[in-house]
Amino acid sequence: MNAPYAPPRGPAARVDRWRARLFERAEARVRRDVAVVSVTFDDFPRSAGYAGAEILEAAGARGTYYVSAGLAGSRNHLGALFDPQDLIRLHDAGHEIACHTAGHHDLAAAADDDVLRSVAENAATLAAYGVKTAASNFAYPYGEASPAAKRVLSQRFDTLRGVRPGVNRGQVDRALLRAVEINSESVESVIAHVADAAARGGWLILYTHDVRESPSRWGCRPGELTQVVRSVVDRGLEIATVADAARRALTR
Ligand SMILES: [Zn+2]
Repeated sequence: MNAPYAPPRGPAARVDRWRARLFERAEARVRRDVAVVSVTFDDFPRSAGYAGAEILEAAGARGTYYVSAGLAGSRNHLGALFDPQDLIRLHDAGHEIACHTAGHHDLAAAADDDVLRSVAENAATLAAYGVKTAASNFAYPYGEASPAAKRVLSQRFDTLRGVRPGVNRGQVDRALLRAVEINSESVESVIAHVADAAARGGWLILYTHDVRESPSRWGCRPGELTQVVRSVVDRGLEIATVADAARRALTR
């Protein structure tokens, strides 16, 4: 199996990331009286669609699945990826099917046309698979944004999610929302973010990949996800899909 793609890390990439945060912001505010958590899965592995969904449903909650339609039926370092039937099952159970580009490409240096073509292709493939609701939210593959991608995608989607940790609170950029990764090393820090959202309000978006007993370093064990979900429920916070949370939490 090939090594998974890793985005560039040098000084030039750091400047690009800084520019992506600074420019083409889509200003929005998180309402002061809102304290909500979204649990999201990227790509997504089948284990997220089974073990992940089961854990959320046991808590009466639903998740958001950021789908790269081109990964359907494949297998990679995250294990087996979703099948088209998984999308229908999750959608019918009330989970949100959101967009993660068609081919899971790094958009940091992509041309506008390629960005638009990729999300259009993803939408067409999901519709062909029978998903009845068009995706209204998006997550950047590898968390890699650019001012150009933010500009074109923020016109098409309600929210765009990155991977920079933190609770979304006060003035936010809905073209690059913050999110905290759940992996086997991060559970304590995730729970600290949950406590912060409970104490000070805001919209906490969590994300992970595979949910299985031997997870990749981008995923977590079922017991770890259960622990996170329990910490949210125990603090009286609500879990809502990104679509629901955006409707409730965001104002212009
Ligand atoms: Zn991804």
